[in-house]
Amino acid sequence: MCGIVGYIGDKEAFPILIKGLKRLEYRGYDSAGVALLNGNTVLYKRKGKVSDLEEHIGSQEVSGKIGMGHTRWATHGEPNDVNAHPHKSFNDKFIVIHNGIIENYARLKEKLIGRGYEFDSETDTEVLANLIEYIYLKGDVTAELAVRLALSKVFGAYGLVVMCKDEPDKLIAARKGSPLVIGVGKGEYFLASDATPIVEYTKSVIYLNDGDVAVIKKNELKLKTIDNEILTPEIQELSLDIGEIDKMGYEHFMLKEIYEQPKAIADTFRGRINSDCTNIHLGGLHAVWPDLENARRIIIIACGTSWHAGLVGEYLFEEFARIPVEVEYGSEFRYRKPVIYKDDIVIAISQSGETADTLAAIKLAKEAGATVLGICNVVGSSIPRETDAGVYTHAGPEIGVASTKAFTAQVTVLTMMALKLARKKYQISEDQFNHMVKELTLIPEKIEKALELNDHIKAIAELYKDCTNALYLGRGFLFPVALEGALKLKEISYIHAEGYPAAEMKHGPIALIDKEMPVFIVATKDSSYEKIVSNIQEVKARNGIVIAVVTQGDDTIKHMADHVIEVPETPEHLAPLLTVIPLQQLSYHIAVMRGCNVDQPRNLAKSVTVE
Ligand code: GLU
Repeated sequence: MCGIVGYIGDKEAFPILIKGLKRLEYRGYDSAGVALLNGNTVLYKRKGKVSDLEEHIGSQEVSGKIGMGHTRWATHGEPNDVNAHPHKSFNDKFIVIHNGIIENYARLKEKLIGRGYEFDSETDTEVLANLIEYIYLKGDVTAELAVRLALSKVFGAYGLVVMCKDEPDKLIAARKGSPLVIGVGKGEYFLASDATPIVEYTKSVIYLNDGDVAVIKKNELKLKTIDNEILTPEIQELSLDIGEIDKMGYEHFMLKEIYEQPKAIADTFRGRINSDCTNIHLGGLHAVWPDLENARRIIIIACGTSWHAGLVGEYLFEEFARIPVEVEYGSEFRYRKPVIYKDDIVIAISQSGETADTLAAIKLAKEAGATVLGICNVVGSSIPRETDAGVYTHAGPEIGVASTKAFTAQVTVLTMMALKLARKKYQISEDQFNHMVKELTLIPEKIEKALELNDHIKAIAELYKDCTNALYLGRGFLFPVALEGALKLKEISYIHAEGYPAAEMKHGPIALIDKEMPVFIVATKDSSYEKIVSNIQEVKARNGIVIAVVTQGDDTIKHMADHVIEVPETPEHLAPLLTVIPLQQLSYHIAVMRGCNVDQPRNLAKSVTVE
């Protein structure tokens, strides 16, 4: 959440900052701002998108070789020009951008007001800017020491960049809970919340750890802890490719990412499944296989779409490996008193690897002695660094706020883990294992086939784009798909949608059925096929509208449903990977037809780094 970008070097910073902000806009987009030092302080900020900021600046000259930029996802104070970042301190000494929440801001603010400070904004960030300045002036200390002392007084989470007018040769950056990456150039450094704005300038990066403070001059980088312990920066090579973060001719990132799924899935199992489909190799889990085999229970922790992937994981692990599984929301798990055993395996799933609630839940599980694994997409992010072991999805950067390819890549990893574990525990025959692995490798080409239905799906979208409610139903492995279909629709088109287990419909949602509300039913051929056919009849008996996702060639449902979308046949355990595709396409088309901003839906942001 929130995008941070910074530059120090010999180039003009402004174009680099603006370009960086555009790359990061998916992280937050309710306001944007930049600040530069060039003898004076140059600061522009504006409610709205980066393009609104550019328009506001117009042709005014913005010059300076050191600067910072921010796209906000408001937590404290509504999105407006004043609350937008950067924030200046009261006496104009400091300029601050911040991602996260300063939890004790109210008390600090009160104290600062008592000492004569006045505030323009409602943000917690301005409190931090003033606290730094207060310490700097009162203690007559360096800017760096003022930042470190101020940070020792705040609770909460931050990714922070600070400039000081009196020390115009440096950027000071700090991290606790919110990600920051430094790009190392020749005589220049870049800073950002993730590597996407950096990759076109340098592939050498340093990921800050929690508690790190970086003092960055154009030819020098000092890394230390808040308590002034000197650290050695660890430079890593980015494997990110610039092409991966462009739209590549697609109208939206979401559409591009929907279409990338065959590749994302193939990349996720590439090198992990041997050529004759008789083995699965998950190197990242090597050290923890004994723990996995002896696990009393698996607890999957996630939020949003990743939580839906986790539900598919529950069905897979219980079916194949016969280990009991619980799927938890990070935010609930961390604040109740969960019973965690030392022989529990906790699997945290997060596209960004930065999800604040999931991270906090991981810490809790670790303290209780459980083995904690991660399934994440962003290499080098916090969750992979916090966990004992894990498996990366290799889906490539996901920029669209509504997750698509990350979901299918996560389910791919969970499938591989469940199958491998089943084999290790002798819960699956060799033939069954080989068959399932082979079927998994066929999924990318089956998704290609499913994607060909785009025009048919667009025509269905046209018919239902004006509905105000929608119901999604599924059973077994397809119940999480119904949840995910509903989530996709509501998050990008703002149509109220609910996902439900099809049989549960009788216990409530059936009351909603009328001639207006589309009921999307995921009903491919599986062990509960007859049951879901009955559920379709129940909807039709009440004059409901049924749009069914079915197995290719299904003649039965074709005669009952108003529309069918036929996807290739696959084992039911893998059907979520295929059936979710048309639901993603449907949501996409409906949202576009309603004029919604598909890649940046209102109120949402990618990478939820606040709790
Ligand atoms: N808490 C800060 C604010 O509301 C930062 C929010 C963000 O991460 O964008 O301004």
